[in-house]
Amino acid sequence: MLVDLVVPCYNESAVLNMFYTEAVKVLDGIEGYNFNFIFVDDGSKDDTLEIMKRLADEDKRVKYISFSRNFGKESAMYAGLKNSAGDYVVILDADLQHPPALIPDMLKAMEEGYDCCATNRATRSGDPVLRTFFTRRFYGFINKISEVNMPDGAGDFRMMSRKMVDAVIALSEVQRFSKGIFSWVGFDTKWISFNDVERAAGETKWSFWGLLKYAMAGITAFSTFPLKLSIYLGSIISASSFIYLIYIVIKTIVHGRDFPGYASMITILLFLGGCIMLCCGIMGEYIAKIYIEVKNRPVYIIDKTNVDKPRDDYGR
Ligand code: UDP
Ligand code: MG
Repeated sequence: MLVDLVVPCYNESAVLNMFYTEAVKVLDGIEGYNFNFIFVDDGSKDDTLEIMKRLADEDKRVKYISFSRNFGKESAMYAGLKNSAGDYVVILDADLQHPPALIPDMLKAMEEGYDCCATNRATRSGDPVLRTFFTRRFYGFINKISEVNMPDGAGDFRMMSRKMVDAVIALSEVQRFSKGIFSWVGFDTKWISFNDVERAAGETKWSFWGLLKYAMAGITAFSTFPLKLSIYLGSIISASSFIYLIYIVIKTIVHGRDFPGYASMITILLFLGGCIMLCCGIMGEYIAKIYIEVKNRPVYIIDKTNVDKPRDDYGR
């Protein structure tokens, strides 16, 4: 049985060697399986690629794929999965926040017949408090409004069978949101939790703004609720304006015409203007997504690799 370890790396020169040593230590203790590393260099600006090349020289199991620029972790994971050949594939971060020590447990789950063994972070002590707060709210919200279920704390750290990997890469959308995709494709998944740790070295690649954009992408990728929001909002506003209209007509009939009313007029006008803009904005968000998806550009572009027959993404 062959197991591929897909590791997206962006400017990870500070931890890559440490990761490799740690992973090899775990893998050496596992019998009955062969392992391959697929390191994906996501356009790093430091010497991440040089480290990968050195590791590949020393260890034949090491494959690397280097992008022509930074495409983002989603693209890196997709490229890794697309170029994997193993019966099982694990995705894990390079910073040791996803402990390779869990791999034996994951293999056990696969032997039990699961198609996927996913992990859940029991705590978030490795993350800033504010980020934890917003992440929790985000998962609460997205699980209410979207068609897929994404457990809070569920990361990308998981082992999948070939069957599931093929399903995941068959979903070839350009704007990828893997947490949703994993859940959407289905299959029997075993959940195991682990205590999270701080990054072994180097720093996080996520800014608050970056995470916010990612959250928006996740919502629009797996839910059309925001589009329906305009319908609800519009109906509530029109219904209440109609009631208000009846009130005004009756009032005018009973008490005659009155001039004051500027304040109420301007308030209603501004409120309606705001609602219209909100709805346009929501629609714009989805139209932008359609536009990007329709262009059908490759999710990643490979610059250098030592993979035998690398699968690019040009034919999609
Ligand atoms: N990563 C990547 N491309 C990017 C950003 C991140 O391949 O544009 C990789 C990064 O090298 C790491 C993983 O994604 O292996 C998770 O990134 P990070 O540790 O910065 O995120 P956090 O753990 O803070 O969520
Ligand atoms: Mg990390």
